[in-house]
Amino acid sequence: MFCQKCGASLSDDSRFCIRCGAPVAKEAVYPQPEAAQPVSEQQQKDARQLLIWSIVGLALGITGWASVAGIIISAIAKNKVKKYLMQYGTLHGKALVADRLSKAGLICSIILTALFVIEIVVFILIWPEYLKMLQELLQELSYLSL
Ligand SMILES: [Zn+2]
Repeated sequence: MFCQKCGASLSDDSRFCIRCGAPVAKEAVYPQPEAAQPVSEQQQKDARQLLIWSIVGLALGITGWASVAGIIISAIAKNKVKKYLMQYGTLHGKALVADRLSKAGLICSIILTALFVIEIVVFILIWPEYLKMLQELLQELSYLSL
């Protein structure tokens, strides 16, 4: 890079010009690529698609009985976010929201699926006891009514 004041050639890590002593303004020398790059229509379309996948994943994830589907859809959404990041280099706007939603969707759906499985296991375990109790209760009731 070069000094902005006197034009002297400087090494990339120098903070002051070796010839004139002026401080080196790094921001001016390296413009932010994200800000300069226009977002293409295809990228916008892809970001929108990511958002839809992640919203569906999260919605299914927080819906008790559909949480297994939530895991699958959220995982697909997360994978799509990864591909998007590889293709375009950055996540912003809808793609960034999709990234967060897909993570939230994955966490919620895994937790709810685990709870659902525990519920079923507990239900299976207590079911015979429950039936017995119900039978006894019905017997008692029939005695009472007689
Ligand atoms: Zn200089």
